[in-house]
Formats: sequence, structure tokens, C-alpha cells
Amino acid sequence: MSFASNDGGVLKYTDISSIPNIVSSLNQSFHTRALDSIDLRIKILTDLYNAIRSHSEELCEALYKDFHRSKFETATHEISPTLAELQHVISNIKKWAKPKSGPYAPALPFLTMGKKLERIPLGVVLIISAFNYPLFLSISPVVGAIAAGNCVVFKPSEITPHFSTVLTKLLESTVSPDYLRVVNGAIPETTSLLEQKFDKILYTGSGRVGKIVSQAAARHLTPVVLELGGKSPAIISKSLSNSELKIAIKRIIWAKFANAGQICVTVDYLLIDEVVYDEAIKCIQETVKEFFSKLDSSSEGYTHIASQRGYDRLVSLMGSTKGDILVGGVTDETKRFIYPTIYTGITWDDSLMEDEIFGPLLPIIKFSDINHTISDIISNHDTPLAAYIFSQDSSEINLMQTRVRSGGLFINDCMIHVGNIAAPFGGIGKSGHGTYHGESSFKTFSHERMVLRNQYWSEKLYESRYPPYKNTNKKL
Ligand code: NAD
Repeated sequence: MSFASNDGGVLKYTDISSIPNIVSSLNQSFHTRALDSIDLRIKILTDLYNAIRSHSEELCEALYKDFHRSKFETATHEISPTLAELQHVISNIKKWAKPKSGPYAPALPFLTMGKKLERIPLGVVLIISAFNYPLFLSISPVVGAIAAGNCVVFKPSEITPHFSTVLTKLLESTVSPDYLRVVNGAIPETTSLLEQKFDKILYTGSGRVGKIVSQAAARHLTPVVLELGGKSPAIISKSLSNSELKIAIKRIIWAKFANAGQICVTVDYLLIDEVVYDEAIKCIQETVKEFFSKLDSSSEGYTHIASQRGYDRLVSLMGSTKGDILVGGVTDETKRFIYPTIYTGITWDDSLMEDEIFGPLLPIIKFSDINHTISDIISNHDTPLAAYIFSQDSSEINLMQTRVRSGGLFINDCMIHVGNIAAPFGGIGKSGHGTYHGESSFKTFSHERMVLRNQYWSEKLYESRYPPYKNTNKKL
């Protein structure tokens, strides 16, 4: 069976008037507590694993239609980690869901009788996803929510309509509507969703919309996980040898221009120590030549910008920066194509240094003192989603580690930490709050509850708590 749309890829939006009913029917379904069965959760996740595996070609084709993403990139950046996460959760869910014995309370030993800590589901949760990795960013939280026993309303991005059409059909034909419902649409549909009461919301996207989501959630006291973006810096230190520098540059250029820079944890800007600056610039030119010398707007293997709005924003940035083009600068609006473009001579007040770039533009700043450059990161763009340092000097690494607060810190490489689906992933401050992936998702979508059971024969131990109190004025 094929899920590909045969109507030109037009994504069918959910009727707004049906949204309250969708949420209330999931609430009713949650209260049947069918998902208390761990075997049922495992069955749903196994079905999902098999469906994604057998429809991976279609998922790749849809993303190619949406923004010219190559099959290789979709297979390695999205399908592999999604399947790996499903496998990891399926194999561990019984262990995570098993009640643990409660902690020992030394001051109140008698309270430790009959105690356990159990993880209970939250109820009906809402997951809102971004466009740039629309499989991994959607299925990963959906898996965590179902693994923890919740019912889910899932809102994919409207910016990738072919993909969202395939994913919706895949989910609807794999998971019972008693447990998962997909709501498609743009701002009006999401606004209507946010008027409903959920037991948790996990939102992936920009900080601007993150604030709207948080405000809407606060009306119902709904807890929110925000997976946002930001300006993630990479520092290149003078401690690298020429051969290490070459490798560092290769890793950075790969991370920056994969998915045409539309990645939340990509290198947003590059800071290079003046001691290795000339050599680094030479390596950058050689690496771009090696990776992209034959690239133009009709080449395969390089992603285009997903939306006209995103393309216009990037082209306007290219027009307003005062930097000098080191490589690139070529665009093709008919295909929303922007060649990998790197700028030197950038200062902290340049337009490219204001907000997250989220596209294939890389500003470079030369620095002479790593202490100062770390202070500049903190005063301009503290709490990024990721921070990268390429260094062999442990005092420099330590400086970055102790001073810059970031969602993740990666030394001598970038981006691949997100593929560790067993580790918690999330931002801090402006880049968001809360974590997910693997057991961290299971915890995010459940509540840890202490359950105590007392005995009636122990009543003598408790008698002093009852009024009338004796010795009320006794010195403590
Ligand atoms: P976006 O904020 O434009 O959209 C995300 C979702 O919010 C979409 O489903 C969209 O329909 C919905 N939305 C948009 N405007 C809305 C409004 N006014 N009211 C209610 N809902 C609205 O983000 P995007 O362009 O899809 O993604 C890019 C951003 O996401 C970047 O900032 C990037 O760094 C961030 N991101 C973060 C992560 C992460 O894991 N931390 C991952 C991917 C992307």
C-alpha cells in the first residue's frame, strides 16, 4: 500500500470544528486505561517500527518533493535514528515502567513500610513538530508519550506537505485512533488545539512560537517542554595541528551545510583563533571545493530551503550583512536554492549575528583571546542549544565547559550527539527547557508517584500527631 498523495501533494487540513471532539474522545479513551498494558504499548511501538521501515522509500521521496532533501540524508539523519530509538524503547520499556522501591527516610523509618515509586501516565498530550527533521522530531516524542501510557494528539508541520500527508496516513493506518490522532494545519488549527486542555505539551520550533505555546498552556496550568533553537557557536583553537585543523573544518562544513543549514544544532557561527586563522581559511576553501565544487541548483544531494518565507529571510540577510563573501553567494529563487555561503570580516553587531540563521550561511569571526571570545558568546548569545569547541588544550575546553551554559557541549565534533537516542536531549534558557529521547522521554511523559501503605497495627506510633496536642509550649 502506498501512502503518497495522488492529489498533487496538497495536505488536507483538519476541520477546526472537529478539534475539541478529537481531544475529548482521546480523554475518554485514556480513562479506559487500556494503555496501562505494557504489552499493548509494545505492540503499538512495534507496529510503528515496521510501518516506518516498510514505508521508508515513500518518506524519503516525500521529503525530496518538499525540499529536495536527498534520500541518503533522510535515511541517515532521520530514518536510522528513529528506528534506533523505537528499538531502544521497545527493549527497555518494561524495565522503565517497573515500580521501584521507595527511598529510605531515616527520620521517619516507620513511614518506609510498604512504599514504592511508580511512574503513571499524564493523560492526553500534545506534540507539535517543526519542519526540518519532520520524522525524527515527531516520532521520537510520540514514541516516548505512548511508551509512558499516554494518548497523543500530534500536529506535524505544514511546511512539508508531501511528507506530512504520508506520515499522517502511515500513523492513521498503524495506530488506533483511540490512542493517537493527527491534526494537520497551520496557525488557525494550532491555535484551536492550544485552546484545549492537555496534560503536557511538547513543542519543537522557534522561540517566537514557543512563547505563544507557553502562554496558551499556562491558561490550563499545562506543563510544557520547549525544544527551541538558537545561535550555537563553534570555536577553533590555536592548539590544533594542521592535520587536526583539516578534520575540524571538514566536520564543521559537513554540519553547517547538511540539510542546507536548517538544523537546530548546526554551527550557527564560527570563531577562529587568529594564530590558525589563515590556515583555517585555506582549509575551508579546500573543503568547500571538495564537497560542493559541482553543486548548482539542479544538483542532487543538497537540500533546498523548505519555504518561500525562509528563503526570503535568508536572501535578505545576505543583502544586509557587511561581511565579505569567502565562498558562495549564489541563489536560485525558482528552486529556493542557496549555495553554501561563508562570510569573513564579521563583527558581533552584524545582521548575521542577530538571530539564529537556520540556513546555509556561515559567518566567521577572528579572535585573539579565547577568554574574551567566550565572554562575547555569553553576552551576545548565552544558553545556545549546542556549543562546540575544537581544541586539544584542556584549559580552553574547561573554560568553555564551565562558563557557557548550553543544551549540549561537544568537543572536537559537532551535531552527531543528537543521534545518541539513549541520552537526554534539550535546551536551556532561550533554547528551551525539558528533555526527551529514550528513558528521558519516558520520564518527561510520566509522573513519578510515591505509593505508601500503612498498617493498622502501627497506630501506637502515630498517636502523638492527634489533637489535643500535649506540651504545646515545650521548649524545642
Ligand atoms: P515554527 O515555530 O515556525 O513552527 C513550528 C510549529 O509551530 C509548526 O507545527 C507550526 O505549524 C506551528 N506554528 C507556527 N506559527 C504558529 C503560531 N503563530 N501559533 C501556533 N502555532 C504555530 O518553527 P519551524 O520553522 O518549523 O522550525 C524552525 C525552528 O525550530 C528553528 O528555530 C529551530 O532551531 C527550531 N528547532 C528546534 C529543534 C530542537 O530540537 N530544539 C529541532 C528542530 C527545529
